[in-house]
Amino acid sequence: MALGRARLEQPSRFLVDERPLAEDEVEAEVARLQRALLAAREEMRVLREKLHGTMAREVAEFIDAHSLMLADRELTTGVYDLIRKGRYRASAALKIQRDTLVAMFEAMDDPYLRSRKEDVEHVIARVQAGLVRESSREERRLASRVGQVLVSDTVSPSELIPLAEHGVLGVVLSSGSQVSHSAILARSLHLPMIVAAHEALSSIQDDDLILIDGELGEVVVHPTAVDLSRYRAWQRETAQKGKRLALLRDAETLTRDGTPIALHANAESTGDVAQARALGAAGIGLYRTEFLFLQRRELPDEDEQFLAYRDLVLGMGGLPVTIRTLDLGADKADASGLVLDDEENPALGVRGVRLSLRHPQLMATQLRAILRASAYGPVRILVPMVSAAAEMATVRRMLNECARDLRTAGHEIADNFELGAMIEVPAAAIALPGMIRALDFISIGTNDLVQYTLAVDRNNDQLANLYDPLHPAVLKLLAQTIATARRAGRPVVLCGEMAGDRRHTALLLALGLTDLSMHPGMLLEIRETIRGLDLPALRAHAKALLRAPTRERIGKVLDKMRAEG
Ligand code: PEP
Ligand code: MG
Repeated sequence: MALGRARLEQPSRFLVDERPLAEDEVEAEVARLQRALLAAREEMRVLREKLHGTMAREVAEFIDAHSLMLADRELTTGVYDLIRKGRYRASAALKIQRDTLVAMFEAMDDPYLRSRKEDVEHVIARVQAGLVRESSREERRLASRVGQVLVSDTVSPSELIPLAEHGVLGVVLSSGSQVSHSAILARSLHLPMIVAAHEALSSIQDDDLILIDGELGEVVVHPTAVDLSRYRAWQRETAQKGKRLALLRDAETLTRDGTPIALHANAESTGDVAQARALGAAGIGLYRTEFLFLQRRELPDEDEQFLAYRDLVLGMGGLPVTIRTLDLGADKADASGLVLDDEENPALGVRGVRLSLRHPQLMATQLRAILRASAYGPVRILVPMVSAAAEMATVRRMLNECARDLRTAGHEIADNFELGAMIEVPAAAIALPGMIRALDFISIGTNDLVQYTLAVDRNNDQLANLYDPLHPAVLKLLAQTIATARRAGRPVVLCGEMAGDRRHTALLLALGLTDLSMHPGMLLEIRETIRGLDLPALRAHAKALLRAPTRERIGKVLDKMRAEG
């Protein structure tokens, strides 16, 4: 959930000026920060005075907490030091301070205190806004969104990162879907997001106070005192749930009958990796490398990629890490430094491995960087959007060549590396028996497998009711894929959003999966769910699930499974 002021606009990029200050600019920058701090305090005082009506008391509590933080020397001294000693500009110094404080709050054991990091984000965002008000018109326009809830028609993944970094509290979109890459990234950034709120742009006004609930998909405009107390109750419940789940951090993931299930994490950022490790993930099941390529004009070179992958591997301390090669194309190619042709059907176009194979240099650079990282811990390489065995044969050849060249050049790399394919195109699932022997493992990408099997665009909110992971055709493909991998003795993991949705856990286990990879934020909830499930009882329903001719009948079998506990 998030509570904030609505800002209706198209998002664009927030910029922090990273250029170091010259010595004679330092004091002016300090003065600029002082003015912004004063302005922020004054703004809050005025805001507090204007409060009236039923929710005045609740809102005043938030404001008071924030005013206290602004007066906190811990916060301000650090920022001044960064400007004076580190020669950072005020906006960059604030960002560094914010990241440090947020990390500190995140590391706290007490879930309530941990959740207070939002207040830090809020307060710093307000000061950032004050700084920018002094600057250019463009910056002012951007700052007007800070600390607020963005209401827009769409937002791309590359726009989301700077929005989150600059304190936007949540996002309401009039279009979009829950399995879009933007939604997946928002989850990773802990940014509440509502999609397909069709009326949002016409029914919300700038500056309206809005309360959003990402779990229910609800937007409340002008929340009443009752809504605000619901928000507070949610904060309390979240803290309690956090406490309950925290007990499972070091617990094993076993079903009630004692079968171990491996829970891996999907990661996009270093924060995800730290969280995965802290919550006892079995490894990183999917590292989406495309986020290294977004938000920039030039492509990351081999060394830059190597360092990112090496840190990822080191961050997992010896647990296996699956790095996926670039999956750009479709809705993710913007702002990536790659110039791609406009395509009429990008989801069916030059995407994933198709793109990599058309740019062999790009692929070789990435493979070399991944192989170099393999010297630091167990690494598996995963290839997206595979639709034919020939693609994997080419990748295998390139990988072997890269490994040979690296060894000749004196680089240390692992002796063995596993190469696997995402099974997310129906053709790959159907033709899997013919190619499984050439693969070391497979990973099922249900986000795309559902889209392509049902011919339903995963980003099209008009078709949200048709985007159904429980469609009989999807279940049959899943079951076939899992069975093929098991027969061939190849590991199979499922890494689509389904894996982190507790409503689907029983079904996935019934279909024979023992490895799931999900957003790290879901690890404990899924672990809790699994500990309540009895595998033999679930498996007894597998046949009935696969025989059910319609979605409705599948629903009935699932109800029965649930009723039996
Ligand atoms: C998938 O398609 O299920 C998947 C995990 O990949 P992405 O969401 O990045 O397309
Ligand atoms: Mg995919």
